[in-house]
Amino acid sequence: LAISQIPANSNMVRSKVFCRLTSFIPLILFSLHPCQSFGNIDLHAHLFMDEGMGWTFNGKFDGPLEASSWKDKFSSQANPQTLSESQLQVVVATLYAHPLFTRSLRNSIRKQIDQANQFVKNNPQWILATDPKMAFSGLQNGKKILILALEGASGILETEEDLNEFIDQKGIRIVTLLHLTDDLLGGVAFLKGMRILASPLAFIKSLFVPEHDSQGVKLNPNGLTPRGLKLAEELIRRKVWIDLSHSSDHSQSDLLPLLKEKKQPLLYTHTPLRRYLEAERGISDAQLQEVAKQGGFVGLIPSEEMLEGTPPLTPCLGGVNLLATQFRDAAQIIGQSSLAIGSDINGGITHLSPSCKTGTSLDTEGFWNLGQSGELWKALKNLGAYHPKQLGQSEQPSQQDSPAYLFIQTWMKAGSAQSS
Ligand SMILES: [Zn+2]
Ligand SMILES: [Zn+2]
Repeated sequence: LAISQIPANSNMVRSKVFCRLTSFIPLILFSLHPCQSFGNIDLHAHLFMDEGMGWTFNGKFDGPLEASSWKDKFSSQANPQTLSESQLQVVVATLYAHPLFTRSLRNSIRKQIDQANQFVKNNPQWILATDPKMAFSGLQNGKKILILALEGASGILETEEDLNEFIDQKGIRIVTLLHLTDDLLGGVAFLKGMRILASPLAFIKSLFVPEHDSQGVKLNPNGLTPRGLKLAEELIRRKVWIDLSHSSDHSQSDLLPLLKEKKQPLLYTHTPLRRYLEAERGISDAQLQEVAKQGGFVGLIPSEEMLEGTPPLTPCLGGVNLLATQFRDAAQIIGQSSLAIGSDINGGITHLSPSCKTGTSLDTEGFWNLGQSGELWKALKNLGAYHPKQLGQSEQPSQQDSPAYLFIQTWMKAGSAQSS
């Protein structure tokens, strides 16, 4: 029985009995089962912000969604139910602890990891993958994969003990070294407009040492500190994949030789394109070229405030049209197989306003919760910005073409980087 002989749209395919009886097929043919959702991914989703943001965040992971619109910033936009509705096969669950609204950064991260473990215990269709091989065999067995990431290392990964606990034992596998404010580890990417003041000292320094990139965008004069570089080395040695999002251009230039030497693919879990945002926080064309050269993965952010300045791909208004333009443009440089979404759900930013002609709920509601992720990918496809190879009638559905599979393959290279 070849998978192409299965009528993809018949009701039989949708029936649960059919799906259960034939679930061994992908294992044999190494392809996507027609009952399986296309393997989408989210490279940056905050699931446990009730712990990470303390009293400033409204709602709990294990409760109903509290957000109701794409404009909601601090109300919960993800829970176990939306995770299962999301059609996501790989989710990078990003841990974050706010320095003012949590009593202890480390304890907040510990509690979030407990929540992740509890979630996979209650939902056996999900696994918490601590290495790419485990993720890969999970994918082949139709499992959904959670990977732990940490946004902002300062105050959490400081000592050998911290690394033992959070990396080796508790399984954090992706680290966004820097975040919103310059710290002991290095300089952060300046945000757009007034938000540049998130890093006040670097901003003041930039007035005296003005620096701009080739596009005329203002740059943070600060790069990585020796301590930041040492931590990056330590993390790579422990098979952690370094996320370059939020790093200043100088910090990235300081990290690049190390990443090249260790042959680690370049990872940007959540970024807009700088050519439109005109702020250092966006990935520049030169940085995209590096990803194309070195290999890597880029997650684009479905957020109106990050997509500012982007022309819509179709005459329809609405945020997903801006995201579609960025998807098309980034694909022209790094190829579609290195592209993903990094939703930054629950990350304190707006998401996408309602659109039209996408044939999804994004037309009426916009994108505002994690459960719509499958529809977000579908909207990009319907707008012509994303062309998954496997959907052609004549072609056999292939797992190798799904973003989930491609990402895990790239992670495999990051995991073996330290041995070179
Ligand atoms: Zn971020
Ligand atoms: Zn975030």
